[in-house]
Amino acid sequence: MAITIGVLAVQGAVREHLLALKVLGVKAVSVKKAEDLEGLDGLIIPGGESTAIGRLIREQGLEDRLHSFHKEGKAIFGTCAGLILCSTDKSHKTDDLRLGFIDMEVERNGFGRQVASFETSLNFEGIDQEVEAVFIRAPYIQSVGPDVKVLATFDGKIVAAEQDNVLVTAHHPELTEDYAVLNYFLDKIGK
Ligand code: GLN
Repeated sequence: MAITIGVLAVQGAVREHLLALKVLGVKAVSVKKAEDLEGLDGLIIPGGESTAIGRLIREQGLEDRLHSFHKEGKAIFGTCAGLILCSTDKSHKTDDLRLGFIDMEVERNGFGRQVASFETSLNFEGIDQEVEAVFIRAPYIQSVGPDVKVLATFDGKIVAAEQDNVLVTAHHPELTEDYAVLNYFLDKIGK
């Protein structure tokens, strides 16, 4: 089955995801406005700056359409800033956008600010070999609700999880040539 994946293209690592999907032979399109979600099988919300991405989602009138896309059961993958946006994060103190797709609390910039960009390998539930993971001013997941499945931890902190049709990772799977996590996401759709 041929599938088409959208990459939310308002800010952040958009090009890198489009390139990675191309390498994997998957049709990928940029999503800038609500109509662009029509007919897609899944959506990636990339890393970048979660406050900026959230603001642009609101400005482009995308918020309601993202909620209906989620309710339709379409696959959604939030990486890094995208993870923050997918969370409920009830304790956050700003009016920054949280889409609430995964019942979890997050710690933004949880590994520290500038020094905390690093590369490591992770054991990832559902993937046989260790995955290469690049973290850039990444958040971690402080706690998850009962319906959330934890997929990976690093240094005792949760860094990947899924709930139904939504997958999140604190790292950037598009920035290495190890595409196992992207393939895991594509498998969720039934490639
Ligand atoms: N620190 C960023 C934020 O809070 C996320 C960083 C990233 O996506 N690489 O939005």
